Amino acid sequence: VSRWLAEWAWLGDGEAATPAVLIETDGDRITTVTPAVPDPPADVTRLGGLVLPGLANAHSHAFHRALRGRTESGAGDFWSWREQMYAAAARLDPDSYFRLARAVYAEMALAGVTAVGEFHYLHRDPDGRPYANANAMGEALAAAAADAGVRLTLIDTCYLRGGFDRPLQGVQRRFGDDDADAWADRAAAFAVPGVRRAAAVHSVRAVPPTALATVAGWAAERDAPLHVHVSEQRAENAACVEATGMTPVRLLAEQGILGARTTAVHATHLTTDDVTLLGQTRSFVCLCPTTERSLADGIGPAADLARTGARLCLGSDSHAVVDLFEEARAVELDERLLTGRRGQHRPDALLRAATETGMAALGWDGGRIEAGRLADFVAVDLGSVRLAGADPAAAAAHVVFAAAPADVTDVVVGGRAVVADRRHARLGDVGQLLAEAIAPDTGHLGRGG
Ligand SMILES: [Zn+2]
Repeated sequence: VSRWLAEWAWLGDGEAATPAVLIETDGDRITTVTPAVPDPPADVTRLGGLVLPGLANAHSHAFHRALRGRTESGAGDFWSWREQMYAAAARLDPDSYFRLARAVYAEMALAGVTAVGEFHYLHRDPDGRPYANANAMGEALAAAAADAGVRLTLIDTCYLRGGFDRPLQGVQRRFGDDDADAWADRAAAFAVPGVRRAAAVHSVRAVPPTALATVAGWAAERDAPLHVHVSEQRAENAACVEATGMTPVRLLAEQGILGARTTAVHATHLTTDDVTLLGQTRSFVCLCPTTERSLADGIGPAADLARTGARLCLGSDSHAVVDLFEEARAVELDERLLTGRRGQHRPDALLRAATETGMAALGWDGGRIEAGRLADFVAVDLGSVRLAGADPAAAAAHVVFAAAPADVTDVVVGGRAVVADRRHARLGDVGQLLAEAIAPDTGHLGRGG
């Protein structure tokens, strides 16, 4: 049993923080939460500032981190960016992927992320041949997350064709399996203790309708989350309508893919009917605003989705930045720009998207500081220049609209301190690890001697 004393804690209801909260944990669970403890026991670990539930990064492609800053200087659109992303994908093998993903997940840990959903489709070698261990790449991700101290939901992605009318080509061949049954067998063979398995349909353009049922059945049998990229680009909607007569969301609905275990990622370019379908089925919608703005995707109808019943969660996707606070505020701020109206999302609802709802979309019973939940929580420094002067009665608003990853001082995952005093306990200098994984030949542009 461990005891933690939060100077302030956000307990998930409303915007206010509660003072002097004693959190007791046993193994990886919270056993008791006692607010306003006047006389804490001597053996507590004190967490200064505001303690939040661990942040959930519900949509990640770890290898995209290698592109940060390298794709911002030229013209183009999503499809020209994709060519640069494919070049990065072609360079990775299980060893280099382990080193890159370990550093990326450690960056996430420093930013307060305690669970990540890795939307994983780098299954084969760069020539499209299966590795001797067909799950070598997935196992590299699992080892990376374990070293970084972050919970992993490995979202094993079915990716069978390059478009409605073409096969996998070039580097796409490493994303594939022979067919949906082969995908299901490979995904079923992945078993790493502590890692949650989930299924993904890469997109309706990459998975034929007959295969959709196989992927959905695999997830249903295991009560596992099911994720799918949906309507990030107008061109993919147009191709789907041309090939099937339906929007991607309508096609997924017809195939029985939507529902309470399903996460639609992006959901940017939707019809009114699409919004209704996602809401009525209580599907999750994972918004990735910093990536969506980086790739010139567009701004989705987040407020309408939430009003209709869809459950919003957040992902850093391409890792243009790893900052779940920024993802959360961007949901509201982007809609302000689009609609000319403020306050369509309450700050505490945005913080729930970054915590409890994201955890649920990844199949974890966390995201809330409450007895019985996973013991994942993070401390945010209320004395930082960004948060100094914060009003505890509106703590959620201060954190969502002004906090940065640098304000995260401590991260506890499953009752274990992964980050203490802004330092990764196991891995130390995460900047160095990132530099070595991303640019081993150009050296580390560090602070110097
Ligand atoms: Zn994605």
